[in-house]
Amino acid sequence: MIRLYNTLTRKVEEFKPIQEGNVGIYACGPTVYWFAHVGNLRTYVFVDVLRRALSMAGLKTKLVMNVTDVGHLTDDADLGEDKMLLAMRREGKTAYDIARFYEAAFMKDLARLNVLPADAYPRATDNIPEQIDMIRRLEKNGYAYVTSDGVYFETSKLPDYGRLSGQKAEDKKAGARVDMGEKRNSTDFALWKFSPTDGKREMEWESPWGKGFPGWHIECSAMSKKFLGVPFDIHTGGIDHVPVHHENELAQTQGADGVLEANVWMHGEFLTVDGGKMSKSLGNLFTLEELVTRGFDPLAFRYFCLGAHYRTKLNFTWEALTAAQNALKRLRDTVRGWDEPGTVGCADHERAFWKAIEDDLNTPEALAALWNMVEDASLPSAAKAKSLAVFDSVFGLGLVDLVGKAIEVPDDVHMLVQAREAARKAKDWKESDRLRDEIAVRGFAVEDGANGPVIKTS
Ligand code: AMP
Ligand code: ZN
Repeated sequence: MIRLYNTLTRKVEEFKPIQEGNVGIYACGPTVYWFAHVGNLRTYVFVDVLRRALSMAGLKTKLVMNVTDVGHLTDDADLGEDKMLLAMRREGKTAYDIARFYEAAFMKDLARLNVLPADAYPRATDNIPEQIDMIRRLEKNGYAYVTSDGVYFETSKLPDYGRLSGQKAEDKKAGARVDMGEKRNSTDFALWKFSPTDGKREMEWESPWGKGFPGWHIECSAMSKKFLGVPFDIHTGGIDHVPVHHENELAQTQGADGVLEANVWMHGEFLTVDGGKMSKSLGNLFTLEELVTRGFDPLAFRYFCLGAHYRTKLNFTWEALTAAQNALKRLRDTVRGWDEPGTVGCADHERAFWKAIEDDLNTPEALAALWNMVEDASLPSAAKAKSLAVFDSVFGLGLVDLVGKAIEVPDDVHMLVQAREAARKAKDWKESDRLRDEIAVRGFAVEDGANGPVIKTS
């Protein structure tokens, strides 16, 4: 069985589903006020590998990923500006138009990364009554209080608040330099925010406490309960969610429903750039589209992510991405030359692969197992192709579809190659170089073999 690291217990544990044969996973989804950056996408590749690995281990998975389309302020401590209002000013569009546009862009990114679709993508704005109900239960149980700007969760009422991050409410209070406003503890957080009185907001709802919108954390507690039931098996997110968002989700479910929201809490480490944080002001925040524009295959980014364990930081550089793209290309070229899968696989290599995956999703070691198999000259390619299907159902690199398939070269590329041959014969090197570049733009490379030009994918 698979062993997974649980942030809550700080241990690698054997994973046991609550309901035999099934696993419920809740992944904190994107905030849809801007494009996802490649750091965000690393986290969703990690969730996808987790989900695929559990499926391959024989479990029926149910993955729920929320879409945060309201309530996320620029500062996690309920301060700062509303991210949606910022986007509205920037783009001159309505809140719903912005949210739907970036949600669609996000779904396209996931598809290009071969991330399997979730079973549900509930939006915060489609589940407001459930969130209000939950705040009501919190109020009834004595965990909520009202201030002039909203309804807050009183963290000091929950004896083990801070259990996920291991930080006590008092520690945070001592170290905090935040403006407490009317909050009773610095760790208290908004469950509901009242609409500002300076005019009508597009995203606001009536509630028992006044017109407004939900705080950022309540949507996940309410929707995980609605779509999976609590407790469910595995809750995922990026490492930054541990001290605030997940700590608060856990507290809300505990306070409202008296149960642990999820048994296992898993967090992906950050993708860094130049060893540091990605940010717009540093100009190092890349989208998947930008990678594509620079000539990278989205799956090269996926391969790059698989090269590091999800609990280690991964530093993004163009050199490293190029190396990943080259490695993926070598794999693709190799499997194209293989026979169709036979009936027998490569048992030893499969064992090495599973040993790595079952050890808290050790993808770098699993990739090494793949390469060991690819380079093992003692095995027939049909056996390798059979095992590749197993490996790739977890890696999701789309390699299986290429087994035994010669590359398809479009007519215009053939014509460019012929024109380049003619230019070479006429010793017009400038024209021949220009044509090689045109061929490259179309995703192909031409090598000059002894029997004439050989076309390859670039
Ligand atoms: P957001 O849309 O900001 O809520 O982020 C979506 C997901 O990306 C969350 O799970 C974050 O924890 C995660 N995330 C944010 N920045 C990074 C990063 N640099 N590397 C990996 N994951 C990240
Ligand atoms: Zn969440």
